[in-house]
Amino acid sequence: MSEPSFHKKGQSIKASEAAREVALHRIRSAKSTRPSPEDWAAAIENGDRDALGQAITLTESNRLDDLQTLTAILKAMKASKSPRSAANRIGITGVPGVGKSTFIEAFGLVLLHRGHRVAVLAIDPSSSRSGGSLLGDKTRMDGLSKQESAFVRPSPTSSNLGGVARGTYEAILLCEAAGYDRILVETVGVGQSETAVRDLTDAFLLLMLPGGGDELQGIKRGIMEMADLLVVNKDDGSNRPLARETASQYQQALRLFPPNPGGHTVQVQSTSALEKDGIGEVADAVDALVDQWSSNGWFETQRQQQRLRQLDEHVHGLVRIARWNASSSAASAWKRLQNEVANNARHPLDAAQEWSNLRTQQEP
Ligand code: GDP
Repeated sequence: MSEPSFHKKGQSIKASEAAREVALHRIRSAKSTRPSPEDWAAAIENGDRDALGQAITLTESNRLDDLQTLTAILKAMKASKSPRSAANRIGITGVPGVGKSTFIEAFGLVLLHRGHRVAVLAIDPSSSRSGGSLLGDKTRMDGLSKQESAFVRPSPTSSNLGGVARGTYEAILLCEAAGYDRILVETVGVGQSETAVRDLTDAFLLLMLPGGGDELQGIKRGIMEMADLLVVNKDDGSNRPLARETASQYQQALRLFPPNPGGHTVQVQSTSALEKDGIGEVADAVDALVDQWSSNGWFETQRQQQRLRQLDEHVHGLVRIARWNASSSAASAWKRLQNEVANNARHPLDAAQEWSNLRTQQEP
């Protein structure tokens, strides 16, 4: 794994990686003075934002000891003992520039107005790919983040280990334990991150730009198939006729799509996030979807599938972390196996089997 460095292109990402390391170091070195997992969990449940923020930092760590601390906190949460949280998890995606930040700001304020507590989390795979963060570099959601009942977490630097969204599921649970009942998970519409967010949320919203034909080709069909609600944003000013036209084109296109496992019909709505127009209707539509899924059983079925997927992801993720973990006794074995495979002295399958045997032998 490369060390953080401060060179030209990747400066912002390296700087934010370094900031995260500093934060983690602070959390770790406070070991003797820091609260027990029970007290930490209680602080989060009592609305202590610092305690919540620090626990979310743990979710982004690649060290087993940090993840063990996180696990202890999660297990100490009262929420983990209640059968079903009342929170809704809403994923929001769309190409850069479609208006996601502006929409989330407006949507979040509507939800606050309706008495909800809103947390915003972001997944930004671009930071690890291009060396520049699309989500993180902007001043975002200023109005929302100033609100007492809102919590906006700046986008994390993508982890080198694990999937694009490793840790986000736990961050969601932490926010819910802190009393946030509408969790908005945002991602840039540029690839694998949509699937990750789809797998973490109850309802998945795809924001689109007016300008149907081209856009319809530009957006991957797979992403449209994942969406529970399409929102054509920027339905204002001179864009308006085009936005309406686009919405009706999408509505037509959706007729050709396979039925949704949730049993619902995917609607197309138009909004102006800028003028805060149509936002309440989107909130109503999401509520209606959740009502429908609660009564037809899809809500819990989907959550169950998501929990199982997390189990799977964590199994892979923890094995990966164990390899990289400097303190792990397995590190040298892993290096040896890597060398053997790199030099073609060993089949990858053979090496993987030895690795897996080594791990199994180490189990208590
Ligand atoms: P993101 O990259 O998807 O997060 O998009 P932003 O929220 O940063 O918005 C990109 C640009 O589109 C900004 O200049 C916004 O002011 C503008 N914008 C966002 N929503 C709307 C809208 O509903 N109507 C119009 N006309 N512009 C918008």
